[in-house]
Formats: sequence, C-alpha cells, structure tokens
Amino acid sequence: MKYIDTWDLETIFPGGTKSEELQAKLKDVQNQITAYQALLNDWDYSSQSVDTFKTILNKQEVIGKGLGQAGTFVNMWHDAYMNDEHANVVKGQIMELYSEVQKLSNTFTKKLVEIPDTKWTTMLEDSDLKELSFALNEIRSEGKRLLSEEEEKLIAELNKDGLAAWSNLYDTVVSIMTIPFTDKEGNTTELSVGQAMNRMYADPDPEVRSQLFENWEAAWTKYGPIFADTLNHLDGYRITLQKKHQYKDHLEEPLEYNRMTEDTLNAMWSAVSNNKKPFLDFLDQKAKLLGMEKLGWQDVDAPVALGEVKPTQFTYDEACDFVIENFSSFGPKLADFAKHALENRWVEAEDRPNKRPGGYCTSLPEFGESRIFMTFTGSSSDTSTLAHELGHAFHSHVMKDLPTLNRRYAMNVAETASTFAETIIGNATVANAKTKEEKASLLNAKLENATAMFMNIHARFLFEDAFYKERAKGIVSEKRLNELMVEAQKEAYGDSLASYHPHFWCSKLHFFIDGIPFYNFPYTFGFLFSLGIYAEYLKDKDGFEDKYIALLRDTGSMKVEDLAQKHLGVDITKEDFWAAGIQLMAKDAAEFIELTNEIVK
Ligand SMILES: [Zn+2]
Repeated sequence: MKYIDTWDLETIFPGGTKSEELQAKLKDVQNQITAYQALLNDWDYSSQSVDTFKTILNKQEVIGKGLGQAGTFVNMWHDAYMNDEHANVVKGQIMELYSEVQKLSNTFTKKLVEIPDTKWTTMLEDSDLKELSFALNEIRSEGKRLLSEEEEKLIAELNKDGLAAWSNLYDTVVSIMTIPFTDKEGNTTELSVGQAMNRMYADPDPEVRSQLFENWEAAWTKYGPIFADTLNHLDGYRITLQKKHQYKDHLEEPLEYNRMTEDTLNAMWSAVSNNKKPFLDFLDQKAKLLGMEKLGWQDVDAPVALGEVKPTQFTYDEACDFVIENFSSFGPKLADFAKHALENRWVEAEDRPNKRPGGYCTSLPEFGESRIFMTFTGSSSDTSTLAHELGHAFHSHVMKDLPTLNRRYAMNVAETASTFAETIIGNATVANAKTKEEKASLLNAKLENATAMFMNIHARFLFEDAFYKERAKGIVSEKRLNELMVEAQKEAYGDSLASYHPHFWCSKLHFFIDGIPFYNFPYTFGFLFSLGIYAEYLKDKDGFEDKYIALLRDTGSMKVEDLAQKHLGVDITKEDFWAAGIQLMAKDAAEFIELTNEIVK
C-alpha cells in the first residue's frame, strides 16, 4: 500500500493508556493548574501590571494544550481499542482536571467583569492583547450576564437535576421504547427506536416503510404525554434562565453563541423559502420513480431503483489519490496538506472489528496537528467522509499558529471547511461516474442531504420558534405541539407530502439536547455558508485559495457578518449570498430529473 491506513499512537504517548509519559503529562498539567490558580486568585487589575494578565493568559494556553493533547490521545485510543478498560480510568482523571479548569475559568470571567470599562479599554490597547480583544470582550460581556457567584453556583447544582435531568429522562424513555414490526409471514418483532428508524427510512419495500411509519407514530403517541411534559419543562427551565440572564427573547442566546444576528438568520431562511421549487420538483420526481402520486413522510429518503447501478469501488490508495488530485484542482495548499496528513498516518481508516463506528477529526494541540478516525470500506461515501474530515483538519491546520482564544469557532462555522472539501470531492465523484445510473444515484445522495437542510431542518426551526413563543406564555399541550409540528412541516415541505409526522417533536432527539438551545439551524447555516463560499469561488477562481484560508483563520475571532464582509465582500444579512449557494444544489436537482427521465423512459 502507498498509504498506511492506521494511525500511529505511539508517537503521541508510547504505551497506550498505561503510558508513563501520559501520567507525567497529567502530573505536569496538575502542577500548572495549581500555579495558575495561585496567580489568578492573587491577580488585582488595579495594582498589577498588564504583564501579569498576559502571564495568566499564557498559563491558560499551556494548560489547555496539555489537557487537549492528553484528552485527545485517550479518546483516540479508546475508539480504536474499545475493550481497553483502563481507558475509562484515565478519562476520569482528565475529567477531574477539566472540571478544575472550568471552575477557574469562572473565576477568570468574574475578574474581567470587575474591571471598569475605561481601564479595560486601555488594557486592550496593549499590542499583544489587541489581537485577543474579540475573544476577551466576548468572555467579559457573557460574564456580565451572570448573576451573583452564589446564584450561579446554585443554578449549576440545580441544572444536574433540572435541565440535564429532563434531557436524560428523554434518553431513558426512548431507550425502553419499542416499535412492533410484522413481517410477511405474520411474525411480529419488537424493534428498538434506532432499528425501526433506520428501516422505516431505508427499506426498499414501500409497505414495510408505511407499516413502520404507522407503528412509529403510534408508539410516540403512546408516550406523547411524557414527552410533552419533558419538552415543556426543559424549555420552560431554559426560558426562566434566559430571562434571569437578560436575554431579550429565546433566539438571542443561540444567536449570540453562533456570533450572528437575527437579520442574517432571517435572510437565510427567506432564501430557503423562496427557492424551494427545484427541491419540490426533486421530491415529485422521486415519487414518480417510486410509482407514487406523492411521497409520504417515510418515503423522502427511500432508496430509488435506478436500474443496474454498479457503484465504483475504491481501494484506500485510490481514494487518497483521488482526494489529493481533486483538492489540487482547487489549490496547492489544500492538496499538499492532505498529502502530508495521509503520508504521515494521521488517518485511522482500517476496516476491522472492535472499532467504534462513525468518523471524526480531532486535534493534538501540542503538535499543532490533527488526527482522523473513520472506517474505510471502499464506497464513494467513504471517500467523501475522508474528504470531509480532511477539510476539518485543514481548518485546524491554517489556525494552528493562532492563540487558543482565537481558535474557538462556533457550531455554525465549524462545518465550513469540511463541507467545502466534501463539495469539491462530491462534484468530482459525480463527474467521474461511469454510467447514467451511477450518476443519478450519486446526485440523489447529494439531494437527500440538501432536502434535509432546506426542508427537514427548516421544519424543526419553524416548530421550535413557534413553540418557544407559546411556551413563554404557559404550558403547551401535546395536541398543540402536534399542530405546530404539522404546520411547520407543511410550510417547510411546500405542502408536497401525502402524510406528515405530528409527533416529530418527540421522535427527534435534537429538541431534547440540554447543552445549547436551537441545535438545528446551525446545520443549515453551515451547509449554506460553505456553499455560498463555493459559489464565490466559482465566480473568480484566481487566487481564491488564499482568500479562503484567510477567512478560515478568522472564524474564531469575528462575527460571521464581518467575516463574510471582510473576506468575500458580501453582505450575508441579504438573501443573495444564501440564494447563490442554493442555486448550486438546484442545478443538481435539474440534472437528476433529466437523467432519471432518460433512464426510466
Ligand atoms: Zn463535520
């Protein structure tokens, strides 16, 4: 093999989770934390020079990198060797250190808030602090929302049995639910929620899908009252907290977290609403191919028979070369980086037992390098995953020399580089298809993703927005939740489906995540932000790679509106930017319809 498909963990900490070097690192981090704590507690902005403040920031950097390096290593090890029980012991040690750091970061925030505005402004004029001013201002203004230390402590304690508990309760109920399924012989089996969902959306037999959908809706209806309570309390709790933290409405917190304005969010959704036609045509075409008048909710992602599709298979070497070659059509820096990562065993892709499923990219901050975890089986979708994760790694790579405070980007831009890389490879894969049938099936996969972004996630947003507004006035009944959900789905799917899923608000776990509110729109934002950048690239390819890199470098230290204005000269509070990205997908929809018309003539 030209490229080795396993990563090398020995060069990080030799000896796995029992590594002496790893224990030495953790001990070192512990000592650093103790020193940092002493320094921070003694720090007084009025009597000490700005250099002390810089030393504090420097200590944060060192501790963050050390903990990140150790934490990443243990997670990587555990994912690759799931039966190593010692991994959990070390993970526990690392968690302890993280929680100490978390407590100190609260102290740090409080100290920033105490500094008077004029003094603060002077401090930020320091040449080293200037470049950190976005991040520092952000921490300070978030800090200003906090209640007293006592109150915040109490909230953190109560969260465990409040917000987090509601989210846990949801998971528990879902884990004991079953969905019955009766096969052609009349045997009934009870499927788990995950099994039922996979089969309901992916089974080629429309009767299987429709039986499962009926039983699916019935099961969520049976447990509906529990979920209605759970959702009302989870978001009721959140609304109370948001009010106490001076947020003006339910959207301010997620928008602030994603460093964007409501105008931008509205422009994005208007562009989506005003450009649905090509995707409604795609759904119509899909119904036609499935021999149906209209698709049911359960048919939207159903496999379409497109004649004899022999999907192209790749060896790992072929996939790596394909990715590098097509990245180089975009720019040499991206291509060279991918080549370097693949040649230096940054990727764990071997198909073997005892490996966790899924894929991700993670960073080793002390090395300034990334590592990728996935299982490569030879399909074009695995090649696309490889490109996606290399995109993430490239994003970290171009930011590696920046201070940690400037490398923290929000969820909505986290998928910019990955989606961009996937777009390059996706287009190349479609162009490379050997038959019409294969091409149509690749386009279908791309369009299923697009309809998820423009319709399914749009419905989630419309529902959640409407729900929060009503919840602010009181408890929302289960019946009303169903109504809001169906209204949202009809609007998002342009009334094109034969059936809807009233209890989707309880079957979709994203509504029950306690970490951050509105877990849905950042996906559509990320997808379209990246496509919008791609559309700009197509307009003027010359020298675009450097512009792109400069944009990625600023993703952790700017509001998204400023980011797009500075690097692309576009105003993302206007629909045009978003519509240009959608147009790229609309072309795919038109091509899919044309191709499939030829195939099924
Ligand atoms: Zn990703």
